[in-house]
Amino acid sequence: MIDLTKIRADFPILSREVYGKPLTYLDNAATTQKPRRVVEKMEEMYYTVNSNVHRGVHFLSQKATDEHEAARIAVQRFIGAASPSEIVFTRGTTESINLVASSFCKAFCRPGDEILITEMEHHANIVPWQLQGNISGVKLAVAPINDQGELLLDELEKRISPRTKLISVTHISNVLGTINPVGEIVRIAHKHGLPVLIDAAQSIQHIPVDVQQLDCDFLVFSAHKIYGPTGVGVLYAKEQWLNEMPPYQGGGEMIASVSFEKTTFNEIPFKFEAGTPDFVGTSALGLALDYVSAIGLEDIGRYEHLLLEYATERLKSINGLRIFGNAAAKSSVVSFLVDGIHYYDMGMLLDKMGIAVRTGHHCAEPLIRRLGIDGTVRASFAFYNTFEEVDLLAQGIERIAEMF
Ligand code: PLP
Repeated sequence: MIDLTKIRADFPILSREVYGKPLTYLDNAATTQKPRRVVEKMEEMYYTVNSNVHRGVHFLSQKATDEHEAARIAVQRFIGAASPSEIVFTRGTTESINLVASSFCKAFCRPGDEILITEMEHHANIVPWQLQGNISGVKLAVAPINDQGELLLDELEKRISPRTKLISVTHISNVLGTINPVGEIVRIAHKHGLPVLIDAAQSIQHIPVDVQQLDCDFLVFSAHKIYGPTGVGVLYAKEQWLNEMPPYQGGGEMIASVSFEKTTFNEIPFKFEAGTPDFVGTSALGLALDYVSAIGLEDIGRYEHLLLEYATERLKSINGLRIFGNAAAKSSVVSFLVDGIHYYDMGMLLDKMGIAVRTGHHCAEPLIRRLGIDGTVRASFAFYNTFEEVDLLAQGIERIAEMF
């Protein structure tokens, strides 16, 4: 069960005010707030442990290394990976996808080969592949969605061609909230001998993810979306891929030996982790995952679903309000527009009431264009949000609608 009073007390920012009004933070799909213990962990790391990892024989260096590697094991367990060597730390989802795009295309793609994505991808799962297009000549193929915002699986399969090299899909759309059937997508892909990358930026914090059960080849997410720090991300990849792919960046940590003539590379995952890692951030991520696990993702998901259902009903009853994304399987994101009110005005006026929502194209311009609009207002809920906050949002929208 979600104990809201206890949980909200763990997030100091939730009790602050903006413009003299209590903060109603409904921008969780952009970033989540941090529990006190996660912030304290970072402070503790800097005050009592700080020392560079992997290279030192001295006490602090070993302690920092232990913390960093313990975080890797925490991530491994959280997503059910077979081994910690399948967990690469990055700066975020975006860097994780750039890493795969660069290394995978270098190793396996030729001009004219295709990467299959969907119409509902975040720019982070579009642009890295396009950049590779300029280097290795790969092209994007795109699977369409229906008007409810659901991926058309049979159309996805039809777009697999002899030139397809990888399928890269978002688990949950950051605009529509659609939960894609990633297990089924992996099954289809593997039937065609293709690897799958899952962008879990919007799912890792809402629903249990088990990479071995999903049998996905790659999975990526950002720490800051699961109550952890900014600047840290994860790339999970099956060992086979990490062994076969070339390094992404060069430098310290990722080498076995260097001479001016030849460099040999470290074992995985270190081969993909050039330079000093953010060991303060990774150890805080480990703590954030423990925090979420202690509450339980099943309970979190159940509660957030109730919030979603309540918000959907409440918002639908507002005159002239249209919701974008009505998939049968949906997570706690509501994108909407109210007739005659620009999303930017709506966002600005809600802000003045202390209600933080996001407006615009949400880094998914092709999807927004597919919807025939140029932006939405997006309210996105986390397990620390309340039904009263949903009411505040609805009342705020109603007041703004009256003003227009
Ligand atoms: N993919 C999806 C679906 C997202 O929602 C986001 C961020 O909103 C990203 C990728 C990029 O995440 P980051 O900016 O943390 O790298």
